[in-house]
Amino acid sequence: MKSICVYCGSNPGSRPDYVEAARTLGTAIAARGITLVYGGAKVGCMGAVADAALAAGGKVVGIIPRALVEKEIAHEGLTESLVVGSMHERKRLMADRSDAFVALPGGIGTLEEIFEMWTWAQLGHHAKPCALYDVAGFYGPLVGFLDHQVTEGFVRPGHRGMLIVEREPEPLFTAFETYEAPVVVKWIGREER
Ligand code: AMP
Repeated sequence: MKSICVYCGSNPGSRPDYVEAARTLGTAIAARGITLVYGGAKVGCMGAVADAALAAGGKVVGIIPRALVEKEIAHEGLTESLVVGSMHERKRLMADRSDAFVALPGGIGTLEEIFEMWTWAQLGHHAKPCALYDVAGFYGPLVGFLDHQVTEGFVRPGHRGMLIVEREPEPLFTAFETYEAPVVVKWIGREER
């Protein structure tokens, strides 16, 4: 595994745990010699994960749309900074440049980004692992809802099981390294692929 994409809040969140977890993960990624790919901002948890990886001697690739360079304050000290034309381009490039995806606590943008990668995995467009990094129980309600979607017949258990949920860097890295993309039919009631 050469690169990990971290999605996270452009805000710091209301508990110190969130920024601390961003720093812990950034440091752990760098310590493993893995390149961090992220949204290129200097603010919130995004800035924290990047600063920690850089401080630990890691490589950090930031990918930011031109329209957000001022709003999210583009980080100027990254190993590689890519300014792209649109949000779609950003997400495409982040996906192409990464071997795995993880969402730290964040807002709507964070959810959109990790869910898009998970939906691509579900459709077999890529075979890279996707994870939630569950700090201070932040993702508990969402995980409960995902299980509810399975119970209600909208998500297959095999697709639900693709989403890794961890709360520490080491088990996360292990889960990433041992991940094998399952072959599961998307549409319930249709067993042919
Ligand atoms: P948030 O979790 O809302 O603080 O946003 C985290 C990151 O997601 C920021 O870099 C946002 O620019 C980005 N983001 C916001 N909206 C979207 C979207 N619709 N698609 C992809 N990324 C987004």
